[in-house]
Amino acid sequence: MKYQSSRGKYSGITSAQAIKMGISPDGGLFVPDFIPSLNLENIEELSQLTYQERANYIFANYLTDFTNDEIEHCVNSAYNTHNFDDERIAPIIQLNNTTYIQELWHGPTCAFKDMALQILPYFLSVSRQKTGEKSDIVILVATSGDTGKAALEGFKDVEGTKIIVFFPEDGVSEVQKQQMITQEGNNVFVSAVKGNFDDAQSGVKNMFSNMQVAEILNKNNKKLSSANSINWGRLLPQIVYYISAYIDLRTQGNIAKGEKINFVVPTGNFGNILAGFYAMKMGVPINKLICAANANNVLTEFINTGTYNKNRNFEKTLSPSMDILISSNLERLLYELTNHDSIKVSKWMEELKDSGIYKIDEQIHDKIKQIFWSDYSTDQETLDTIKECWEKDHYLLDTHTAVAKDVYEKYTKETKDATKTVIISTASPYKFGSSVAKAVLDKEVINNKNEFEILNILKEKTNIKIPEGLKNLDKREIRHTWVSTRDELEKTVLNFLNIKDK
Ligand SMILES: *Cc1c(COP(=O)(O)O)cnc(C)c1O
Repeated sequence: MKYQSSRGKYSGITSAQAIKMGISPDGGLFVPDFIPSLNLENIEELSQLTYQERANYIFANYLTDFTNDEIEHCVNSAYNTHNFDDERIAPIIQLNNTTYIQELWHGPTCAFKDMALQILPYFLSVSRQKTGEKSDIVILVATSGDTGKAALEGFKDVEGTKIIVFFPEDGVSEVQKQQMITQEGNNVFVSAVKGNFDDAQSGVKNMFSNMQVAEILNKNNKKLSSANSINWGRLLPQIVYYISAYIDLRTQGNIAKGEKINFVVPTGNFGNILAGFYAMKMGVPINKLICAANANNVLTEFINTGTYNKNRNFEKTLSPSMDILISSNLERLLYELTNHDSIKVSKWMEELKDSGIYKIDEQIHDKIKQIFWSDYSTDQETLDTIKECWEKDHYLLDTHTAVAKDVYEKYTKETKDATKTVIISTASPYKFGSSVAKAVLDKEVINNKNEFEILNILKEKTNIKIPEGLKNLDKREIRHTWVSTRDELEKTVLNFLNIKDK
């Protein structure tokens, strides 16, 4: 299997090269030359296998330059009971006759990003060896919360890599901050940045395009790379759990052979749901992919009208990991649906960059409407959904999963579709405990309580255990106290890496 850029200037790239490069030098995203297919018999055969064995099988279709041993090494290093608190890795819970929830938050940081960021470092480490790379790979991350911690946990102590995370001093929750500044590991560095997420992100972006920095690092045998969701090595692991969800429903006798199901996905950057699209194209019987957005509903509008327009106010919502106005992974979908028309895709992406808006052809929009359905949820609807689901089904949703549940209800109301449906759950309710507490607890109980106290109150009320990664966070040793201004990030990086060049 070879990979090509969605902007058309690079092709014949091995998966190891694609994973090492992250983004294509022409600005495009790497996609496989073709989508491997599974028939129904293949899918049935996977039913006897564990999550890890299913992952090995699926990865072998895409990472053809990796040996089976290398793939197994990556899979076993990532998906084990040391890192995940459920041996099923991505367990399915039945909510009622037609609705299931797939929990993707049993990894170390309690959010779905662990599904990809636990294995990406191993993919990268193997790719580095395979491509004869001698430099250490230095991962730079600007984070608004979930990604930074998941990347730190994934890369900690992985050979040949170092990781540096910048988070905005006043842009992450108490829990998220505490998760990052108590991070352990010998190759990890964390710094707060004075300002908001944009300050952290633009500082990191500038560093990626700064030739002088690249040269200094090069001389010191270091290369910058990124762990964000445009890397193919982050998308690929997500395909596995869609296939695994289908197989689990089959094995448990919930669906007949070949019966179609829906997935509902709380969406921000379009990475998670795009993996569902790849699973569908591989042959998993999927009826609809339901794209659930919050008040930043660019994608809902796009799916319903065919026009992508990011010119609008950025809303801060209770589902912050979906507060995104540019969904980068959409580029891969458009590339697939235009049958790899890089000229068209480049033109739309240029328009997005220049004017913030583009409109796709009617024929492509029709294809999108056949596969996807979309609506969005307001903060109030999100809270109401958490309360109702707890009272009715005794299942505690986090704010992101609640957006998905609410949008699914809107879907069934409008379409009357009774197809069995899996709601993708992207975070533990404790990860966004304050908002969840607001939905299910009385005001007086949580008044004047800090985030850590609220977690304990929530546990007393619900009897659901607090995941290891969030337990006693406030009592852990603080290991990272560095604070940089936006203009100092470069100095901070060189300092962390012990480079005296400047
Ligand atoms: C990142 C994230 C999302 C959004 O996923 P995308 O791949 O960006 O669409 C949803 N929920 C949670 C909890 C997340 O961390």
